[in-house]
Amino acid sequence: MALTNLTGMLNDARQKGYAIPAFDVSNFEMIRAVAEVCEEEKSPAIFMLLNADMPGISLKLLVDQIRSAAAQISVPVCIHHDHATSFEQIARSIDAGVTSVMIDGSTLPYDENVRVTRQVTSYAHPLGITVEAELGHVADAIGGLTETRTASASDDDIERALTRPEEARRFIELTEVDCLAVAIGTAHGVYVSTPTLRFELLRRINEQSPSPLVLHGGSGTPDPDVQRAISLGITKINIYSEVLAALNSGLKDKLDTLENLSAWPCVVYSLARERMREVIRHKIRTFGSNGRA
Ligand SMILES: [Zn+2]
Repeated sequence: MALTNLTGMLNDARQKGYAIPAFDVSNFEMIRAVAEVCEEEKSPAIFMLLNADMPGISLKLLVDQIRSAAAQISVPVCIHHDHATSFEQIARSIDAGVTSVMIDGSTLPYDENVRVTRQVTSYAHPLGITVEAELGHVADAIGGLTETRTASASDDDIERALTRPEEARRFIELTEVDCLAVAIGTAHGVYVSTPTLRFELLRRINEQSPSPLVLHGGSGTPDPDVQRAISLGITKINIYSEVLAALNSGLKDKLDTLENLSAWPCVVYSLARERMREVIRHKIRTFGSNGRA
């Protein structure tokens, strides 16, 4: 099916009370697993790309693989640049063919976040590209760019950075963003302890917000909490760490059994693929996006 931006997908989700899992994809195996399972489940598909995976020719390689997948499946597909932090990064990924972007000014002062987000919507909207922004700041539980577990966000860090409902409406009016990532107690990465979601805060933000809301740090949040958040207005939930854990654990377990280290990748990745597919299917069914495409 043709590529699309986030507008139709998220408006339908908001209206009908479900959410769409948005998967960060870093390589071919991840793209393939997300495309196959979204098609099997008839779920709208949101593929997301991260700066760390975009150096040199790899940005266009990834975008073209997703475009090719989109042409071969029947569900709508959005290609979203996740956590861009500058206008230049966004201009480059739009050139490469993404249909949606996130400008993450969440660590900037409020006025500066408004300014940089406004600059992106002015550029992207005339091109039909949707824009997500973040207000409040979703902290990092554990960084994934290292081989060991590193710093974790403290409860105080999370508390200080929660989204303020009165600021959310004003922010959306000033920037005209299509959806807003909110900080309600989740964190990025792998949790050290179960996150405490602020449901009353979410209810108030949703009441104030003219645009659909997005939850980051979705991996590792208990299913009943996620479903309650969806019932209070969350329409897009970002997932990365759980799919990565499925990929890496599948690879590790498979490699441990192999005596022939010249085994073909289709063999080496077989268990990883199976485990990723399980996680992706579980998220789709838990969030209720199956059968919506
Ligand atoms: Zn995020």
